[in-house]
Amino acid sequence: LESIFGGIEAGGTKFVCALANNMGEIIAKKMIPTRLPEETLSEVVMFFNQEVEEVGDLSGLGVASFGPLDLNPKSNAYGFITNTPKKDWKNFNIVGYLRNEFCLNVGFDTDVNGAALAERWMGAAEGLDTFIYITVGTGIGGGGMVNGDLIHGLIHPEIGHMRIPHDWKNDPFEGVCPYHGDCLEGLASGPAITERWKRKPEELEKDHPAWDLEAQYIAYCLVNLICTVSPQKIIIGGGVMSQKLLFPLIHERVAGYLNGYIQDSSVLNQMDSYIVPPKLGDRAGVLGAIALAIMANLNQT
Ligand code: ADP
Ligand code: ZN
Repeated sequence: LESIFGGIEAGGTKFVCALANNMGEIIAKKMIPTRLPEETLSEVVMFFNQEVEEVGDLSGLGVASFGPLDLNPKSNAYGFITNTPKKDWKNFNIVGYLRNEFCLNVGFDTDVNGAALAERWMGAAEGLDTFIYITVGTGIGGGGMVNGDLIHGLIHPEIGHMRIPHDWKNDPFEGVCPYHGDCLEGLASGPAITERWKRKPEELEKDHPAWDLEAQYIAYCLVNLICTVSPQKIIIGGGVMSQKLLFPLIHERVAGYLNGYIQDSSVLNQMDSYIVPPKLGDRAGVLGAIALAIMANLNQT
């Protein structure tokens, strides 16, 4: 009998729930809008309970969630969504809730670490042990792996809030981050583009100056990451990056800012395959949650 795992991609606008086998083949899937925690999660529980009737018991559950999260297994608040601006979810014990309902080990990590794990399982980071995954959308999030472990540390990375040089001369826009103003997310998220140019990024022409500026800011961030983490690859996805013209602009700037200093061929002359879009697209989220479920199950036995 094959093992079936449950995965939940917990996002700010929707929860994506899926069942899959240990090959990542999805058996059933459902989207549930994000409302109050109890409302949303009771629908999640109902979905899995119905599916279990048909396919049999789950071998594990995984949650890849919007954050910030408490990921420290020794903390009293392990498994909580912590300081989120979504007030109803602030300090909500999502892992506890699900563990109570299903009596299963629950794998838990950030949405971006989950997506990174999925990309390593069957996407753009196969076979790598040190890489970064970034998403540029409503916010900017980042995670990844170092030496084969998902990055946790003190809390978890907050790559979106990295401080980068603000090009005041070309860009007098102050930025939209409620905490920092002109951090990366404040300058380069989808809402920052919309605020600055008074038009949505999806509506801007290919030759609009927005794209050069966007590539500049993202490239600063990537150069900082290259210099600290030394990733073997960087994957960038999210709604804004569906503008594929950004990739060559980013490649050019990253090479320019590094100025030949990092002596590896992937950076010196294979930039196209070094900074890449995700292979799994919007499947990465829920497959990441499934991968977290499988990992939690392995670690338990
Ligand atoms: P979220 O970050 O909310 O999970 P997305 O990754 O889809 O969702 O990001 C949404 C953001 O991406 C919005 O700010 C939107 O304006 C922007 N966006 C969506 N589609 C495009 C597109 N084709 N080109 C540029 N920006 C886009
Ligand atoms: Zn910020």
